[in-house]
Amino acid sequence: MEHSDVYVCVDCYFAHHYGATEVDGEWFSGESDTPCDREPLALLDGYDVADNTDCNSDEDSGIDEFSWRSCEGCGSTLGGSRYRLAVFTNAS
Ligand SMILES: [Zn+2]
Repeated sequence: MEHSDVYVCVDCYFAHHYGATEVDGEWFSGESDTPCDREPLALLDGYDVADNTDCNSDEDSGIDEFSWRSCEGCGSTLGGSRYRLAVFTNAS
């Protein structure tokens, strides 16, 4: 299946794995007590996404320890870790 890679912040990464909850207008991913910068994965709403990191690979783990690039999942521009997700696009 065709997919493209996007890099998302830790909030979006956790939200992908553990889900996210909205409480009083703030978003929390997984079990975190710290509110997310923005609604996690809002920009990927409607797409099938899958974890595309590989912790066992030294060359291409898909994990950026620190980056200022904006998160492609929620649009956050806070610096931090970025994780690679695969976004699947239906050709039909
Ligand atoms: Zn994000």
